[in-house]
Amino acid sequence: MSTTVAAYAAPAANAPLERTTIERRAVGAHDILIDIKFAGICHSDIHQARDGWGEGIFPMVPGHEIAGVVSEVGPEVTKYKVGDKVGVGCFVDSCRECEYCEQGLEQYCVQGMTGTYNALDKNGEPTYGGYSTHLVVDENYAVRIPEGLALDVAAPLLCAGITLYSPLKHWNAGPGKKVAIVGLGGLGHMGVKIAHALGAEVTVLSQSLRKKADGERLGADHYYATSDPATFEELAGTFDLIVSTVSAPLPLDQYLGLLKVDGVFANVGAPEEPVSLNLFSVIGGRKTLAGSMIGGIAETQEMLDFCAEHGFGAEIEVIGAEQINEAYERVLASDVRYRFVIDTATI
Ligand SMILES: [Zn+2]
Ligand SMILES: [Zn+2]
Repeated sequence: MSTTVAAYAAPAANAPLERTTIERRAVGAHDILIDIKFAGICHSDIHQARDGWGEGIFPMVPGHEIAGVVSEVGPEVTKYKVGDKVGVGCFVDSCRECEYCEQGLEQYCVQGMTGTYNALDKNGEPTYGGYSTHLVVDENYAVRIPEGLALDVAAPLLCAGITLYSPLKHWNAGPGKKVAIVGLGGLGHMGVKIAHALGAEVTVLSQSLRKKADGERLGADHYYATSDPATFEELAGTFDLIVSTVSAPLPLDQYLGLLKVDGVFANVGAPEEPVSLNLFSVIGGRKTLAGSMIGGIAETQEMLDFCAEHGFGAEIEVIGAEQINEAYERVLASDVRYRFVIDTATI
């Protein structure tokens, strides 16, 4: 039997979020019931609640940075028991049999992953995210939050953390590598922490030097303002890897000029409009212009274990649910250091 639980939802596109109730499915054989404790606010929550990407399903309960405690397990569950600390990220299902699902790259599932919210599950029911008190999820789409990682600072790792960890690992950020992170926001601050912990020499490329002290505290070795044209001259040919977290259109030719031969420019943020570049910017120097989207379940677990081992989570500001709409405005104004996390006890 399904259960009625409290949630915060956008009743329609662009409408403020408000308290409501939703139905969570009965706990199936392979499902776990999670008492959600904290849910991060991701920039994409705002996009979707405001229908920036179109075709939103309303009412919409956003939230794909979910941390909580298992409170019930289905009869066939083997990975988790009641009381375990777990997280759920951007997706709650995938086809489980395509070549990418088999490789642990569920985020690139041929049939498409099932989003944690604003999606339809296999039964055609809308999925509802983490701005809620409870969630039912298949045990194979949850991850374990290790001891030593508090649930509030762990929540943003489920999207922001893995979104940066995956490209940094894929393109071998580590000792002897020079890595730049473009933008020091919710995503970028995790990029700095993770790249530093991986042993890379880390540079922040930010519009201004406003957050320089923060960047250095988080692990950056260097910090440059991209509003200063001298930055692009001084750093020409410097980096093995640049990860861009910004969603504003960038002058790509200029940024590609900062790469070494065989360097990679990886996008994890994306502007809504198409971008253009001069292809000589990648031909000269055999450079790669790439992208990356979150990470698979196994890699998300690896990332959480890595963060716990290195003793860090996200930098957060905990809010009550009644502050969600105000928090959205502050995220849009880049006025958060560095992630809002909703205390779901306030829902
Ligand atoms: Zn996200
Ligand atoms: Zn698949």
